[in-house]
Amino acid sequence: MKTKLFVSKLNQITKTFLSMTPAQREVVHQSIQALNAKIPTDELIQPLFDALSQCPHCHSPQFKKWGKAGAIQRYRCNTCYKTFNNKTKTPLARLHKCHLWADYTRCMQLKLTRREAAILINELKKARSLSYYP
Ligand SMILES: [Zn+2]
Repeated sequence: MKTKLFVSKLNQITKTFLSMTPAQREVVHQSIQALNAKIPTDELIQPLFDALSQCPHCHSPQFKKWGKAGAIQRYRCNTCYKTFNNKTKTPLARLHKCHLWADYTRCMQLKLTRREAAILINELKKARSLSYYP
C-alpha cells in the first residue's frame, strides 16, 4: 500500500515536471542539486522492486524474506525456490561498489577516460570522508 502511494506521488511529480518549461525544469534541477542529497542506490531500487512484487526468475508473486547478505535483504521464491535480492536481473546485479555508479555515470556523461574517472571518484570519496555531510 505504501509503495502504491509512493508510485502514485512519483507519477504526479513526473507529470508536473514534464509539463514545465525548460527554464522551470532548470530551476527545479538546480534546487535539487543544492540539496546535495545523496540517495543510496538501494533506496532508489527498492520502490521499483516493491512495485513489481514478484520473483525475477519465474515471476511468481509468492516469496518470503530469506535473511540478509550484508545489509541487503534476500528473498526466496515459494514456487521455484531460488533466492534473489532487489537487484537480481537488473544491470546492477552482481556489481560491487554500487554506491559509486552514480558518480561514474556522471563521468561517462563528461566523456572522461576510465583513468580520469577513477581519479575524480577517488577525490570525491576523500572529500566526502572529510565533510560532515556525505
Ligand atoms: Zn520463482
